[in-house]
Amino acid sequence: MKIVVVGTGYVGLVTGACLAEVGTEVVCIDVNQEKISNLKKGILPIYEPGLEDIVIRNYKKGRLHFSTDLADCIRGAQIAFIAVGTPPGEDGSADLKYVLQVADTIGKYMTDYLVVVTKSTVPVGTAAKVDACIAKALRERGEDLEFDVASNPEFLKEGAAVEDFLKPDRIVIGVESERARTLLQQMYNPFLLNGHPILFMDVPSAEMTKYAANAMLATKISFMNDIANLCELVGADVNLVRQGIGSDPRIGNRFIYPGIGYGGSCFPKDVKALIKTGEKKGYNLRILNAVEEVNEDQKKVLINKIKTYFNGDLKDKVFAMWGLSFKPKTDDMREAPSLVIIDMLLEEGAKVQAYDPVAIHEAKHMIGDKITFAEDAESATKDADALLLITEWPEFRLPDWTEIKENMKGRVIFDGRNIYTADEMIDNGFEYFGIGRYAEG
Ligand code: NAD
Repeated sequence: MKIVVVGTGYVGLVTGACLAEVGTEVVCIDVNQEKISNLKKGILPIYEPGLEDIVIRNYKKGRLHFSTDLADCIRGAQIAFIAVGTPPGEDGSADLKYVLQVADTIGKYMTDYLVVVTKSTVPVGTAAKVDACIAKALRERGEDLEFDVASNPEFLKEGAAVEDFLKPDRIVIGVESERARTLLQQMYNPFLLNGHPILFMDVPSAEMTKYAANAMLATKISFMNDIANLCELVGADVNLVRQGIGSDPRIGNRFIYPGIGYGGSCFPKDVKALIKTGEKKGYNLRILNAVEEVNEDQKKVLINKIKTYFNGDLKDKVFAMWGLSFKPKTDDMREAPSLVIIDMLLEEGAKVQAYDPVAIHEAKHMIGDKITFAEDAESATKDADALLLITEWPEFRLPDWTEIKENMKGRVIFDGRNIYTADEMIDNGFEYFGIGRYAEG
């Protein structure tokens, strides 16, 4: 089976590498020449636990290939995944420009029956557009080749992407042809051996499933952030409330952690895109509008606490920032709450000294030298007036507080992820502010 994966980012590279891992021949395609030549040298464009090993091993075995030439590589392929970006357009709806460019090239150069699978997150109706685009290109060539379009949204989590792909909670496939269904079932069989389910459905339902999943997850976060803010006002501790509600299996204890708002490349854009889909159909998704509003405000919660603590004067104050990526175990900085907090601190005339275990390279790329980057967590605290915990990387959980106290000028911690407790921090000689909990020290 020859598979082509177009778009070699978080989704495409993980998909291609994991499919090669089970013995398939895969070509990963990207328009970014530098990305492709680096991959051929064993240099990965992203950080994802376990990915480097799989990529290098399968490349050396000759099962995983990299190319910029889709026109050439699509010849003889049986399955083509479209895994390019679908960034928000000006009005918030998903921009399908890259997806349709790829569909057009596939139509121009395919040589045999092909199943084209949209893996990018795309609004309902996109598979039909891809179908029309390929059909048009074939017509223009005067060719009558058969093909099917299927939707196979990706549910991997950055930071656990390889594990999620190899052991999926479920695989969702929207497909309306028996021939395509059989081929995709065959391709995914190696991933289903331990009872992982594959759900076949119609194409619009598959496309909608991805947005509904991300919208529900974003809703859980904004709901808990709203409750956390109220906890502070009434003198309750959201950490205890979270445990109290999470033990009810109807609610569940996962994904109900309050913090400084969701970020990343998916939730913000997918919530916006779903709201737009509703608007286009004359339907107002009231809950999702509120989810977004709460999230925007939540990114400012920590900065408001900081301003109150320093009586509104942050000029020349030095802030140590632990964590930059939008969540741990990834270098992805897209829509990271750290970016909003950094901007606000700089606007107030403060200085930021940041450390992140893997995202510094990406952060430098996005924010340049507006802040300083430290070599490790301890040196980021040098002469700092306050320490901000922004991303809950495991290595921040149990630092040497004595050394940090000696390093710092101030004695205050603002914990945007509630990974410490007030008691613990007071014992270590700090004042402590978390999210939705009794504060101070
Ligand atoms: P990404 O930006 O990391 O990768 C996209 C890649 O596509 C880039 O390398 C880009 O150069 C390439 N590309 C763009 N146009 C191209 C073209 N015409 N031909 C070949 N390559 C092209 O994006 P990502 O995070 O992998 O996301 C891809 C899609 O998957 C998006 O729709 C996203 O919403 C969805 N998704 C992402 C995640 C995630 O956690 N990142 C999870 C599930 C779904």
